[in-house]
Amino acid sequence: IIESKKVVTLNYTLKNDAGDVLDTSDGQGPLAYIHGVGMMIPGLETELSGKTVGDKLNVAVPSEGAYGSRDEGLVQKVPLTQFDQPEQVIPGNQFEINGPQGPMLATIQSVEDDNVTVDLNHPLADMTLHFDVEIVEIRDATEEELSHGHVHGKGGVEH
Ligand code: ZN
Repeated sequence: IIESKKVVTLNYTLKNDAGDVLDTSDGQGPLAYIHGVGMMIPGLETELSGKTVGDKLNVAVPSEGAYGSRDEGLVQKVPLTQFDQPEQVIPGNQFEINGPQGPMLATIQSVEDDNVTVDLNHPLADMTLHFDVEIVEIRDATEEELSHGHVHGKGGVEH
């Protein structure tokens, strides 16, 4: 049974409202996470609680339980000189930058002369996320995994 501090391994496909596949474990192997420690979006974690191996879920998670609402304050102008590879600064391209709470994805919105408008909102903000999930394995997290804050081995970090 899925509960706090279990390592859960699952196959998943994530779609948007239109049914487009945004992400899937197909072809890259199942995903493993530690339940109840903030690794998984809260709306999906709630749905997974109490489920067991072999269960299949089809759930729609509204933005409040996923990546939240867009914040127009996160659309900001940055000088082009801040970018190491200015030739890559093209609308639609994404860069990982170091934000106050760790890495953030910045999407280039527009470029005017030496000013770049970047969008720091999560690309999945404002979206209802549709998950197809199949639970593959459930086991206790080890002390080491809990202290590292991630899963070791299959579906997790190899080190
Ligand atoms: Zn580790």
